[in-house]
Amino acid sequence: MIPLTLKPNESDLVSTDVDEGAKHFFVWTIGCQMNEAESSKASAILRQAGYLPTMLEENADVIIVNSCVVRQQAEDKVAGKVGSLARLKAQRPDLRIALTGCMVTGQQEQLAARFPHVDLFYGPSEFERLVEIAPEIESVDVDLAELPHFYQDGSVDPDVTAFIPIIYGCNFVCSYCIVPYRRGRETSRPMGDIVMEVERLSARGVREVTLLGQTVNAYGHDLAGQPDLADLLAAVDRIDGIQRVRFLTSHPKYMSDRIIDAVADLPSLCEHINLPIQAGDNEVLRRMRRTYTVEYYRERIAYVRERMPGVTLATDIIVGFPGETPEQFEHTLQLLAEIRFDKVHVAMYSPRPGTLSNRWVDEVPWVEKKRRHRAVEALQKEICTERNARYLGQRLDVLVDGFSKGRWRGRSRGNTLVFFDAPGDWKGRFVDVQITETSPWYLLGDVIESERPVS
Ligand code: SAH
Ligand code: SF4
Repeated sequence: MIPLTLKPNESDLVSTDVDEGAKHFFVWTIGCQMNEAESSKASAILRQAGYLPTMLEENADVIIVNSCVVRQQAEDKVAGKVGSLARLKAQRPDLRIALTGCMVTGQQEQLAARFPHVDLFYGPSEFERLVEIAPEIESVDVDLAELPHFYQDGSVDPDVTAFIPIIYGCNFVCSYCIVPYRRGRETSRPMGDIVMEVERLSARGVREVTLLGQTVNAYGHDLAGQPDLADLLAAVDRIDGIQRVRFLTSHPKYMSDRIIDAVADLPSLCEHINLPIQAGDNEVLRRMRRTYTVEYYRERIAYVRERMPGVTLATDIIVGFPGETPEQFEHTLQLLAEIRFDKVHVAMYSPRPGTLSNRWVDEVPWVEKKRRHRAVEALQKEICTERNARYLGQRLDVLVDGFSKGRWRGRSRGNTLVFFDAPGDWKGRFVDVQITETSPWYLLGDVIESERPVS
C-alpha cells in the first residue's frame, strides 16, 4: 500500500499568504494513505477551530508531523524532520509541535526524552488530544464523530476523487512488520457510515473513491452480521454518480471468490487488483508468516484473470529477508516472470524493533539486497514495457487528475498513467484517449471526441 510520500498535504497548500489575524497550521505527512487520511482529518479539526493552512512551517502556530516506521528509511526521515524543527521552536517558543503516526504508539516517553521541543505526542486517530496544543478546538466543540474519514489528494481535482479508510489496524503478524504493533487490531467502520460518507461525497461531485485499509479485504469480519468487502462494494457501486471504485491493500488470504466476483461484476469497480505477495518462495513465505503458499497465490491470480482477462495487477515484494538464499530469491524472479504484474513495489528488508524477524540475524548484506532490488526492477521494466505495449492503438477511459510537464495526466481504469496534449482545462474529467506511444511507466495518447463531462 505504501508509496512513500515526502510532501506536506497538498490539499492544505492553499496559499503562502498569511492572514495576520488568524492562527496557522502546517502538516507534514509521510507513509501510507491511512496517514494521509489521518492528516487530513487533523487539518479538518484545526480548520473548524479557526486555523488556516500555510505552506511554510515558519508561518505556522501549530505543526503536526505524521510519522511512518514501516522501514528504517522512513523513520530516519521523520527523525530528521522533527529534529530540524528544534531551531524554529527555539526562535518561537509559543510554536506548538505535535508528533503523531506509527512512530508514537507506545513510545511517548522515549520520544519525549529524544525530542524535548515537541509539545504533544498522540497516537494514530487520537484526535481528541489535539486540544492540548490548539485549545480553540474546545470552544468550537468539534464533533469528532461527524468529521469525515476521507481525504482528497491535492494533485487531483478536489471534487472528483477521494480516499476513504474503511478498516483500521491489522490482525496478521507477518514476522517483519511493525504495523500491527502500532495500529492495533482490525476495526471496521460500519457499512452504513461508509455508504453515507460516499453518498455525501458523490453529492459534492466525487466520481472516484478508493477504499483503504492495511488489509482492506478483511473488511467486516469484526462487524455484527459479518458483511464482507463484496457486500460493501455492492453498496458503494449502487451510489449514484460514483463511476470508479478501487480498494487498497488486499491480503491474499482474504481474496475470496466473492470479492473477485464483485470486482468483475459491478460496473463501477475498476479492473485492478493490488495483492502483495512479498516473496515467491514457500520457505520464505512461511518464515514471513504470510499464511499462504505460492501455489495458493497463483490460483487466486488465475481466478482473477479468468473473471477479468484485461485486469491489471500490482504487488509488493521484500528482498533480502533474513535467510533468503540467492536460490530462494530466484524463485521470486521466476514468479514475477510468470505472473507478469503491471506494477511491483519492491523494498529491501529493514529490521523493525519488536517484530519477530528482528530477533533473527539480518544476514543478507546491503549490497546483495541492493543487487536483488535492482534485479527485480530490471525484470519488471521489461515486463511493464511488454504489458503496456498492448495498449498501443487502444482507447482508454481516463480520469484526468492534473497537468505536469506541459501535458495532461490521468489514470485508466487499470490505474495506468496516461498523458495527453490538448488545449483547454481537462482536470477532473473523464476522457477517451487513443494510445499512440507506450513506455514501461506510462502511456501517451490523443483525446478523441467523446469526452464526457463530469457531472
Ligand atoms: N498489509 C499489506 C502491506 C502493508 S506494509 C500487506 O499485507 O502486504 C506495506 C509494505 O511495506 C509491505 O507490503 C512490505 O512490502 C513493506 N514492508 C513492511 N515491513 C517491511 C520491512 N520490515 N522491511 C521492508 N519492507 C517492509
Ligand atoms: Fe503488516 Fe502483514 Fe498486516 Fe500487511 S498483513 S500490515 S504486512 S502484518
